[in-house]
Amino acid sequence: MLIDTHCHIHDTDTYKFALSRQPVSSKFLKKDPSFPHEIGDFTPDKILERAINNDVKQVICVGTSHEDSEKARDFAAKHPGTVFWSYGIHPDEADNIYSGEFASETEPEKMLSASSGLVAIGEVGLDYREGAPRPGVSGKNNQVKLFETMLQLASDRELPVIFHVRDAFSDFFAVLNNFPKITGVVHSFSDSPENLKKSLEKGYFIGVNGLATFADIPLPPLERTLLETDAPFLTPKPFRGTINEAAHIRDICAYLSREMGVSEQEMAQITTENARKLFRLQHPIV
Ligand SMILES: [Zn+2]
Repeated sequence: MLIDTHCHIHDTDTYKFALSRQPVSSKFLKKDPSFPHEIGDFTPDKILERAINNDVKQVICVGTSHEDSEKARDFAAKHPGTVFWSYGIHPDEADNIYSGEFASETEPEKMLSASSGLVAIGEVGLDYREGAPRPGVSGKNNQVKLFETMLQLASDRELPVIFHVRDAFSDFFAVLNNFPKITGVVHSFSDSPENLKKSLEKGYFIGVNGLATFADIPLPPLERTLLETDAPFLTPKPFRGTINEAAHIRDICAYLSREMGVSEQEMAQITTENARKLFRLQHPIV
């Protein structure tokens, strides 16, 4: 079996947006590719069903804001043991948070104590990229402040962290030096071999997704690899131009097994064990 350790399949708004830009058949829907799909094919339940049919038996729905984390939580509550969720505020939100739009400092606390299926804090981190296609990058000070707040939350609750880091590794490592006990995964790693090495020395897992199939990025050793889709983004080759979904973990697993020179079965087994270890997941009830 396989686990998608990072997806946004609970987020119907993002799927609607992706669908408006990529009206092309996915391999899981045997439809004429010249016709756009209905959003009805991409409800969280239907995406999950296709994932399970493709041996992706557990998924982690990753929150990117307070409201989005609530959606992830509610979807997880419908599928206990199969769907898990994480509470996160993406670094792009940092300026909004500190300009007063954050509901309340106690809001995350309330949500976290009342919830089951919560396995991590994330995605949180630092993103210093500038320009399109992102609407705007938050100021570095606010990003660091938000990241530290989220790390404290993870530390207090002894939860692992899903890191989002882009063009910001030196600040990332500097912040983490103050949180030596934090465990986590560097999601969608796409930086230099040096920063990969440093991340591994810190003990973190590395999230590998469809990006590895079309971009030149250094790969971690198998015993530190987690499989993820980041769906609906980053569709693996040869399905570029279609919308990503959790079922594509299978294609990412197949691709990486060839790259790393192991069998698909071994790839699946070890990455699944890695995910269980980091997120303390129970085996699914079958
Ligand atoms: Zn993501």
